[in-house]
Amino acid sequence: MSFEVILANLRGMCQGVSRAIATVEHAIRLYGPERVWVLHEVVHNKHVVADLAARGAHFVESLEEVPDGSVLIFSAHGVSIETEEEARRRGFTVIDATCPVVAHIHRKLNQAGLEGLEAVVIGHNGHQEVLGTIGQYRGDKSHVHVVLTPEDVDRLQLDGAQAIFATQTTLSVDETAKTVARLKERFPEIRGPKRDDTCTATQDRQNAIRELAQCCDLIVIAGSANSSNSNRLREVAESAGVRAYLVDDYSMLDDSWFEGVSAVGISAGASAPEYVVEGIVDYLKAHGAVSVSTIGREHKTHAFPLPHGI
Ligand code: SF4
Repeated sequence: MSFEVILANLRGMCQGVSRAIATVEHAIRLYGPERVWVLHEVVHNKHVVADLAARGAHFVESLEEVPDGSVLIFSAHGVSIETEEEARRRGFTVIDATCPVVAHIHRKLNQAGLEGLEAVVIGHNGHQEVLGTIGQYRGDKSHVHVVLTPEDVDRLQLDGAQAIFATQTTLSVDETAKTVARLKERFPEIRGPKRDDTCTATQDRQNAIRELAQCCDLIVIAGSANSSNSNRLREVAESAGVRAYLVDDYSMLDDSWFEGVSAVGISAGASAPEYVVEGIVDYLKAHGAVSVSTIGREHKTHAFPLPHGI
């Protein structure tokens, strides 16, 4: 078995994820690990959560589990107004690590509720970010409609002149374009972003996968199964006609995948640490890789400032 390995230059952690992780790290240093509690996985990556838990941070799924007097961190995906209010009522020291891109969408939903507009959220129902976005609508939540596909849009009943739309930040850009097109076709007066609310990190990583797919027979994506943007990278590769696998780390690789393959592409979701990519590359070097190169433009980003309270 021999093949080349090609890494997408633009891959892995985005500014929102780096900021959320740095927030937990700073909080541990500032307040001591025994006081730091994080509501939900701070980002959707098994290794990141395990690393921070090993340093003492506590991860919980509900506020009832958080002791009085704690420092409470909201994850990068954001939370509802009710959760914010309950955290204040309980007197926690709250640090909000919601990604600024998501927080911008929250403000739009909040305002729509205040103005009595209906809201259409394009996204995966039940995903933490979508739950937070719905929860930021200030008013009767029955006026918020979650859709994903054009067929979902066909079932909507609303007055487009009195509605806005927003999207999850980590969707497939191509698939979302179809849903937005149907939405604007059915409700020409609906207000919303020119295209969608997918963030630059999502768009850039999907573009990089398309480029990678042109020169590989197989693509391995580093990322966890519950990571929306990582799953979308796998789908983008597959829709470009390339076999693709999503793995938490090298231990999930199966040697049979690489039989008869001449070029293996590697990328990583926006929440996956670079050491996971390095582990995959090391494994492949020991199992048939004859060269390792990178393609695509350079990965330059500006860090988001840390949240208030850190
Ligand atoms: S993927 Fe986009 S929205 Fe999500 S944390 Fe990263 S920058 Fe923010």
